[in-house]
Amino acid sequence: MANPRLMINTALAAGVEVALDDSQARHVGVVLRLGEGDTLRVFNAPDGEWAARVVARKKRGMSVRVEHFIRPARPPADLDLLFAPVKRHATDLIVEKATELGVRRIRPVLTQRTIAETVRLERLNAIAREAAEQTERFDAPEILEPLSLAKALDGWDAARMLIYADEAGDEVAAPGGGEGRRAAPLLEALQEGAKENGAVATDPARPPPPAAQGGRGSLALLVGPEGGFTTEERRMLRALPYVMPVSLGPRILRAETAAIAALSVIQACWGDWRNG
Ligand code: SAM
Repeated sequence: MANPRLMINTALAAGVEVALDDSQARHVGVVLRLGEGDTLRVFNAPDGEWAARVVARKKRGMSVRVEHFIRPARPPADLDLLFAPVKRHATDLIVEKATELGVRRIRPVLTQRTIAETVRLERLNAIAREAAEQTERFDAPEILEPLSLAKALDGWDAARMLIYADEAGDEVAAPGGGEGRRAAPLLEALQEGAKENGAVATDPARPPPPAAQGGRGSLALLVGPEGGFTTEERRMLRALPYVMPVSLGPRILRAETAAIAALSVIQACWGDWRNG
């Protein structure tokens, strides 16, 4: 890989020497095959990206010396992902792709039909970190402790619109589906929420739709488990003023596809894809 990147959690400045921990040293020495004198880039969110050089490669341990500044950090859009953990491979994929797609924080949520209740945070953090290194971002998303859906919503900041991917979409007849609130197509919800969704536009208790915030502000996406949300959960979600139920089209997507597809549309319409 040309000029690989390594995320370093300590302060970076010209001349600073950083001792790598075991897993970083293994990554640099074994995976990237770098040795003494080889160059790489190091980065973190407060200090940006710097050119560095491997200065010591001993049997136990390796360090790099920071040489010069390359570019300042660019903060990610204030976009969170809440997802119900699915099978291991799919969960890994969600975290990797959410990192590539610029999500700032990831919260596993345990819903009534969540089957995979073991979430290996250390593993998910390692996946996020590696994806951040490859993807030219300056931070890895924060991966929060798993919480039940109810607890994750407890104390929710109502200024953060929660886009809820509702597989029952617009089906008013589906249990918990209609109840007077439309699940608009995602793009429409983002672009024209104010005009199209009377419930959002006219209720002063609801936060302004994302398009009305001009792409600033904060947003979160919620994707359910393989078995979908229960009727009870759908009713509860749809009753919350900051929740915007959306449809991702006429096909039922796997949870990982739903997360990747929805994040792509959100970044294109609201987030940092608009800045190039
Ligand atoms: N078992 C459910 C069913 O057959 O209705 C499907 C659940 S789907 C595999 C997993 C999650 O992806 C859903 O809970 C939802 O959040 C999201 N999802 C999948 N397809 C969707 C769609 N067409 N519209 C909105 N959300 C969707």
